[in-house]
Amino acid sequence: MAESDGACRPGAEWIDQLPACVALLVGDVVRYANPEALRLLQARQPSDVIGRTLETFIHPLDLHRSLARLRYAESGGTNPVTEIRAYTCEGRPLMLAMSSATLPIDGQTAVLATFLDLTERAAMEQRLRQTDEDFQRMMNTMQDVFYRTDAQGITRYVCPAVKHVLGYTAEEIIGLPAAAFYPDLSERDALVAEIRKHGAVHDFPGRMRRKDGVIIDISISTQALRDEQGQYAGVEGIWRDISERKALERRLEHLATCDSLTGIHNRRSVLAILDQLLQRKAPVSVLLLDLDHFKRVNDGFGHAAGDGVLCRFAQIIHQEKRSRDFFGRLGGEEFLLILDGADEAETLQIAERLRLAVSAQPLDLPEGATVALTVSIGMTQVRADDVRTADVLLRADRALYRAKASGRNQVCG
Ligand code: GH3
Ligand code: MG
Ligand code: MG
Repeated sequence: MAESDGACRPGAEWIDQLPACVALLVGDVVRYANPEALRLLQARQPSDVIGRTLETFIHPLDLHRSLARLRYAESGGTNPVTEIRAYTCEGRPLMLAMSSATLPIDGQTAVLATFLDLTERAAMEQRLRQTDEDFQRMMNTMQDVFYRTDAQGITRYVCPAVKHVLGYTAEEIIGLPAAAFYPDLSERDALVAEIRKHGAVHDFPGRMRRKDGVIIDISISTQALRDEQGQYAGVEGIWRDISERKALERRLEHLATCDSLTGIHNRRSVLAILDQLLQRKAPVSVLLLDLDHFKRVNDGFGHAAGDGVLCRFAQIIHQEKRSRDFFGRLGGEEFLLILDGADEAETLQIAERLRLAVSAQPLDLPEGATVALTVSIGMTQVRADDVRTADVLLRADRALYRAKASGRNQVCG
């Protein structure tokens, strides 16, 4: 084989050892197939392939194209690689990458065809396509928003559901920083810090700004993405619009903490606030307010008018109190005002102001009647040894009793 110029010019036997498939065709008939080609075509003996026409192996839809290529090769052309569907001797479908060229043998025009098995790759592509279609279908029907950002926080993917939730199309968002949709950047920073620390977050609360400017509550479940070196590469996850749930929670919270008649804190809520302030050991004082002769309003004008008077009274106190004070209805016509950070002198001053404000405004009643309402106020400072709210309320109640006993419409400490 070795020649003097150093080149190797092997005989034709090497084709039998070639790890690629080779076949020789004369006309439409296979005249030679190397062992690799026979193996791929699942021939039990060479005659399963040799002597057969091309038609035996080529898929009907690709036959016309294959024969045309064969004719082109016979005319001296070289066919570039193309994909052709074929069958083995046992009927198993194959996907082949085939090229062919002319080869004159013993005065005859033969065509040399080489082919590669792409069946695995084609199956893999099919599986990939299927997976991709499944993914797209899932993304298109999802109500929650699936998204992915890169390490710089730029949105790289967001599913179409984002249109229903934020009002933007996915195309409008992709390429923009995720932070652009957070009304408060510190919330996004907190989220990213949490993800970096724990690798993931579940039901993390947040807010986003919709295209129309409305802020919505969202819940985020997401995880960090890492590149091959283990470096942070962004996040991927889901966020859900929970505005309705939040609104319901706020309504329930409101119902649980508000007095339904006057809209101020109810008993439970105002006492819970006092309890919290007791733990804090800060200067706090309380005023216990009780309307004078309120029964007369009810008796003279009816319960509904009495309700109206209670609401008006609550309004007056609400306007006169400082914004940081807490005002609640303990029950009936008895109210509690918690003065945060007020000393005794200031407390007395505020109590007097409230008392005067109530007595200065005759309250309107049905049928043009008015009533001059007054309030008695018991006041007390929270002491260091007060452990329970009841300790404070008891002193305030005694002070209130003294105010009533000494003629009403007054403040006693
Ligand atoms: P005093 O000056 O001693 O406080 O006299 P008073 O009449 O205000 O006191 P009393 O406690 O005897 O009466 C309170 C009245 O408040 C009795 C009750 O019918 C009425 N009341 C309690 N809750 C409500 C309410 O929600 N709506 C109305 N309209 N009246 C209420
Ligand atoms: Mg009363
Ligand atoms: Mg009372």
